[in-house]
Amino acid sequence: LMQFFRPLDFLGTVYRTVQQGLIDMEAMFELLDTPSEIVDAQDARALAVPRGEIRFENVRFGYDADRPILNGIDLVVAPGSKLAIVGPSGAGKSTIARLLFRFYDVTGGRILVDGQDIAKARQETLRAAIGIVPQDTVLFNDTIGYNIAYGREGASEAEIREAAKGAAIHSFIESLSEGYATRVGERGLKLSGGEKQRVAVARALLKDPPILILDEATSALDSRTEAEIQATLERAEQGRTTIVIAHRLSTIVDADEIVVLDHGRIAERGSHAALLEQGGLYAEMWARQREERAAGSPARLGEADE
Ligand code: ATP
Repeated sequence: LMQFFRPLDFLGTVYRTVQQGLIDMEAMFELLDTPSEIVDAQDARALAVPRGEIRFENVRFGYDADRPILNGIDLVVAPGSKLAIVGPSGAGKSTIARLLFRFYDVTGGRILVDGQDIAKARQETLRAAIGIVPQDTVLFNDTIGYNIAYGREGASEAEIREAAKGAAIHSFIESLSEGYATRVGERGLKLSGGEKQRVAVARALLKDPPILILDEATSALDSRTEAEIQATLERAEQGRTTIVIAHRLSTIVDADEIVVLDHGRIAERGSHAALLEQGGLYAEMWARQREERAAGSPARLGEADE
């Protein structure tokens, strides 16, 4: 009986982790070959994404019927532009990303990609158009080359190296004794948070999707690593429609639009400068983070010098 239950238990755990963490969902589904809860309509069409425009129209959603999480979200992300979503923990930021990936169907309103309702599109064609750099990247117990190649089936060695270069992790890999054949993951080399994130960026570059979702890690990195990752992400954003779920406001100063989510509603929206001028929630968050940075800087300098 125990043996019968264990695999189910494992699946349940993984499934919950996936849903809560927006970890590499595509990877997990492939790995487990688990059908998602969402079922395509019989007449579902292939999604065509020539431009990468994203539109949320009065989107409503709750994980449970009696507890609404998003209460009418309106967003337009122009092709190639960058939208940042900020707000307190639990405001519904990651939920917006999960809905765009159609991990769940909305309960009200619509989400359109290049004018097509994603609820009527074939899931695999939607997911092929979106790259995710998650908060916490899952690595397979395999070579680092394989872990990058995972971004796109049938990628050549040259393409994998090119993606690694783009993600600023190529020289690190070359410095390993077995290069791209070095085993990583639980049973291999342990990578730092920054290195894992670069593997995720390399995967995304290899996939080359028109839409990119960046779920910024909450954990603080030392300032040098943060600056390096920031530069890498900026390269990945070039020419793609990007949604950043941000925890550090310093990383989104350049966003075309910033929305402040609060209790499932958009409380404020605008550019960094306009929001500061407004003197509301965003301005408050900005002032608080500046103070924290100033207070934390001596320790951070020490870390960066190690
Ligand atoms: P954080 O900054 O802490 O990551 P967030 O703004 O991204 O927070 P979400 O992850 O979108 O917040 O969660 C919004 C709300 O939905 C939270 O109250 C959370 O507890 C709830 N929630 C998230 N995932 C689920 C789930 N799978 N089932 C039920 N409730 C959930």
